[in-house]
Amino acid sequence: MIAITVEQLCLATNGVLKKGFQTLNNCANTVIENVSTDTRTIQPSDLFIALKGPSFDAHQLLQSAIDKGASVVLVEASSEISLPADSIVVEVEDTRIALGLLGSYVKQQVTGLKCAAITGSNGKTTCKELLTAILTAYCGDADTVLSTAGNFNNDIGLPLTLLRLQKQHAFAVVELGANHIGEIAYTSTLAKPNVALVNNVMPAHLEGFGSLEGVAKAKSEIWDSLDKSGIAVVNLDANFAQDFITKLSNKKQPFITFSQIDSTINNAPQVDCFATEIVNNPLGQASFKLTIKKGLLAATDQSTQIQLNIPGQHNVSNALAASSMAFALGCSLNDIKQGLETLQQVAGRVNSTVISDTLTVIDDTYNANSASVRAGIDLLSQYAHSTRVLVCGDMGELGEYAKQEHKTIGAYAKDKEIDKLFTVGSLSQLATHEYNAASKNADAEHFSEKGQLEVAIDAFLRTQKNNVVVLVKGSRSAKMEDIVTFIKQKY
Ligand code: ATP
Ligand code: MG
Repeated sequence: MIAITVEQLCLATNGVLKKGFQTLNNCANTVIENVSTDTRTIQPSDLFIALKGPSFDAHQLLQSAIDKGASVVLVEASSEISLPADSIVVEVEDTRIALGLLGSYVKQQVTGLKCAAITGSNGKTTCKELLTAILTAYCGDADTVLSTAGNFNNDIGLPLTLLRLQKQHAFAVVELGANHIGEIAYTSTLAKPNVALVNNVMPAHLEGFGSLEGVAKAKSEIWDSLDKSGIAVVNLDANFAQDFITKLSNKKQPFITFSQIDSTINNAPQVDCFATEIVNNPLGQASFKLTIKKGLLAATDQSTQIQLNIPGQHNVSNALAASSMAFALGCSLNDIKQGLETLQQVAGRVNSTVISDTLTVIDDTYNANSASVRAGIDLLSQYAHSTRVLVCGDMGELGEYAKQEHKTIGAYAKDKEIDKLFTVGSLSQLATHEYNAASKNADAEHFSEKGQLEVAIDAFLRTQKNNVVVLVKGSRSAKMEDIVTFIKQKY
């Protein structure tokens, strides 16, 4: 983090030094170089921000933060606190808002920084990794590109990401997630991106958004924080693309588009960045020809061949998204090629491991909603000469749509000729029913717990003579990586 004084902290957060503790004169020499919201990982000299949640209140941990060396604590004015009088205590109305304001303030101190913000129902982390790889190729130095760590993409994670900025950063690539309307409006105002992407709009987190229209509204909030020179990036293949284009055009917001549809064929829509000659090789890597069309960003058409290290048609789409953003940020086609080809598999996202001559496991257990399960099934269906096995846990947070979405998955798996479906979890049972309703042999089997599922998978794999590809999938709450670990240990 960029070093700040206590005075700057007060300025940034609309905070004041609490009466009865140290005064501003006494903290002139205190410099804050790091922020912590967690006493388990706090380091000496950190600023400790006491957050409150539905089931916790970090104001109860202030003494522990001081004991571990916190130099300053930021608290809510309404909270009762008891600390030694020589503590430096800044009070604000709301510590969560103060954390956001501080992140935004730190970002403003980095001169020349360009920010790329990414949202969408699926592929945010993958796009973030791809864009980070391209920008690193462009800068020639990984230390000049900051990107969201893991999944720090909400109202707490985004400010914490911005707080990691240092003077040397030229780019920040931030992932913005949401499970309710207004969340991205908030985080994107803090990030103030120069380029912003809605990767797609799919039925995910419907519990919080109410409907697919709700998802579209929530995701497109990311474009409201662009200024007039900012560039919106639109996926032409995604739901609501035409609505988005109409709205952006009406607002006179510059935008660029990408698509997996060949824009050179007759009657194809005009696209700025597109893929042709898409090939998925059996080792689980996709390749394609990337073209950037003459337009807002390019003086002439430009093309190059790309060989990804990650599989699936959906990752070609993610690569187009990252390429469009990179081009908008000034990267050349060469930087884009170098970056896209550098990125290796992202853990838990269609991560394939060849276990033996006849068995491959694709670990897609990081998370699931019906669109990402369909993307996984599409990938699995391409293994035409193997027995294709899908192992599915429940998809969470789908509210009233949960039953229907699980049924859809069963039908889609059968339709795509997946040879065997194993499910676990109460909702996934519906996928099994739907699959078997369309199958003569009842090749889908459901289990109420993972132990039984493991026994069944083991028994099935032992009878196979053919090559087998097993794709394992489920929401984070389903922890389906247990099944991947089981197969890897057993075979
Ligand atoms: P989260 O909301 O959990 O942060 P995310 O949007 O960051 O997810 P990733 O972590 O990149 O997405 O991928 C999550 C899952 O979605 C993986 O199973 C991945 O294979 C699948 N996925 C990635 N990109 C796409 C895409 N463009 N379309 C459909 N599914 C995708
Ligand atoms: Mg993510």
